[in-house]
Amino acid sequence: MAPNEIYQYSLVNALMSGVSDSGITAAQLIEKGNQGLGTFVRIEGELLLLDGAVYQLLAEGKIRVASPTDQIPYAVSTHFEPQHTVTGEGARLENKEALDVVLERYNNHASNLFMSYRVEGHFRRVKCRTVKGQEYEGQSLAELGKKQFVAEYSDIEGTIVGFRSPRTWQGFFVAGEHMHFIDKDRKAGGHVLELEADDVRIGIATINNLHIELPTSDKFNSAVMTTDDVGLKSVEG
Ligand SMILES: [Zn+2]
Repeated sequence: MAPNEIYQYSLVNALMSGVSDSGITAAQLIEKGNQGLGTFVRIEGELLLLDGAVYQLLAEGKIRVASPTDQIPYAVSTHFEPQHTVTGEGARLENKEALDVVLERYNNHASNLFMSYRVEGHFRRVKCRTVKGQEYEGQSLAELGKKQFVAEYSDIEGTIVGFRSPRTWQGFFVAGEHMHFIDKDRKAGGHVLELEADDVRIGIATINNLHIELPTSDKFNSAVMTTDDVGLKSVEG
């Protein structure tokens, strides 16, 4: 993969249908980029790929480094090389939506293109969730979202890895913003629900080249996949 191309394994719609019993390994994912997001087998927590390590962000704030053989049923990643970096006043984020404004300011023609970004520094507040994992085979992500673990961290140093996908790709990707956070000490993190930051550096890249690898399992092939826009917004928004 060249810099600033997306590699994605499987589809968000497959996860929504509960297809999560196997996938690529953590060792394979590390080859696909220096930052990424995803989940693990049976939707056990959130995945964050950052600079050569794959982290599993679990409920109750537990974090572990994935073993090379851990399987990943869904992930999106990129070899991120920022084309633009914002710091100081322009990088002040009053909320999650403010990040969208920063991305727009950099590339206001990117409504139908993908963007990747990395936000590093001091966060005044980050509200994260971690999915707790399937209780039975095939349980959908939409249902799991109702029992997620939510934690709010204040005055914390860390990194957000994120992607912005066009509206029309909802269900293949997560449309709009999708970001995961990990703190500097690797002790806290998750899928970002809300944020507030006053002293961060925001690196941004626009992406127009995608590689999507689909699972070949019977489970994937027999899944009935539909795009549940409302369900996706509630669980991934
Ligand atoms: Zn997520």
